[in-house]
Amino acid sequence: MHFLKEFDQKNSMEIGRELHGFAAELYPICRSITGDGIRRTLGMIQDRIPLQISEVPTGTSVFDWTVPKEWNIRDAYIKDRDGNKVVDFRDCNLHVLNYSIPVHATMPLNELKVHLFTLPEHPDWIPYRTSYYKPEWGFCLSHNQLTALKDDDYEVCIDASLEDGYLTYGECYLPGHSTDEVLISCHACHPSLANDNLSGVTVATALAELLGGQDRRYSYHFLFIPGTIGAITWLAGNRETALRIRHGLVLAGIGDAGGFHYKKSRRGDAEIDRAMAHVLRHCGDSSEILEFAPYGYDERQYCSPGFNLPVGCLMRSVWGTFPEYHTSADNLDFIQPAQLAESLRVCAAVVDVLENNQRYRNLNPHCEPQLGKRNLYRSTGGEAIGAEINARLWVLNLSDEDHSLLDIAERSGMSFSAISAAAELLRESGLLSAMPAGADSADAPHAASQTDQLRTS
Ligand SMILES: [Zn+2]
Repeated sequence: MHFLKEFDQKNSMEIGRELHGFAAELYPICRSITGDGIRRTLGMIQDRIPLQISEVPTGTSVFDWTVPKEWNIRDAYIKDRDGNKVVDFRDCNLHVLNYSIPVHATMPLNELKVHLFTLPEHPDWIPYRTSYYKPEWGFCLSHNQLTALKDDDYEVCIDASLEDGYLTYGECYLPGHSTDEVLISCHACHPSLANDNLSGVTVATALAELLGGQDRRYSYHFLFIPGTIGAITWLAGNRETALRIRHGLVLAGIGDAGGFHYKKSRRGDAEIDRAMAHVLRHCGDSSEILEFAPYGYDERQYCSPGFNLPVGCLMRSVWGTFPEYHTSADNLDFIQPAQLAESLRVCAAVVDVLENNQRYRNLNPHCEPQLGKRNLYRSTGGEAIGAEINARLWVLNLSDEDHSLLDIAERSGMSFSAISAAAELLRESGLLSAMPAGADSADAPHAASQTDQLRTS
């Protein structure tokens, strides 16, 4: 199956608008690492792809961590002496320190100030702050709002609950010919922030839609989880499944106008690292490959030494390096349909590499086979010696059982799709035979398309 071809047959602007539209539907929800916000979000993803939703009780031990109490919020405000709401959660859910403990009190401004967070360098923006593991309450507001507050008494109210409940996450499993898995993971715990995290959520959902109902070599495991604690909780409950992950990607911050950044897995030379570097080199956008570091998104957990999974992270602008990061300026204008669509295209291209990367044997290895008599010495476009013929020569020359198609694409400097198309043609012409896949793949049940009836709305 060629997913890039499938993608390119569609109208990419329409795909981009659809991705942005889904982000706009999810944007208003007040999410957190637990609670009804993430539940509602998962429910909306479930309307598009088959999603199994799991609930893990508060207090469950997950490696060195414990599943926290569940947080839910109904309302929050700061009122002045005249009863005017000077800060209102209903205007923007970033106004509340995420995971605030409940409070209802009246206090003077100087006492209130230790609970207020602003960004003086961007006086119109509201910062996004959390306090998951330290019981605190607070408000985030624009610096302009803060400077407008008179030295007076204020009523503060955070109508929230922090009680025993559950941590909720969603999984979409698409079985393939092999039980070997490709992991696609994104965090879904941030409130009204678009690039971080809705760009990853919407692109991952669309990728699952694109892959669904198709014949697949690998099984695909999509995770929509709260950041950090969600990945730790999933890994703690799925150690056996984790052993089947052959390739993985964390998707985060892929809707902004910045160039692509791919952070390699801890291994550094995994097939996913090479596949992504290759695809980005040929994608036409600017891109940079970053070495692994034990800080960032959930690749930190997948690449912890006990797992050391081949999981990298695809971003556009790197978190923390752009001023809009974790502020109200990371809004629906900060992500663009064209960028979302191109990010999905890159994911489809990488899946193509993983799905089609295999080794072949040249059945006619002594000198070049005579391509002319097989009608292979002309380009399908009609040119005498074109890139297509060059690709055929490269594939014939390096199909010695040792070189994979990705090896050949890298060495020839040609795109994987060109090399893969050449291999297919040469195999059909009887000049190549495919080497059998690894025993683990060959033994796997042929389970595709029975259990993954996808809605294609
Ligand atoms: Zn974040």
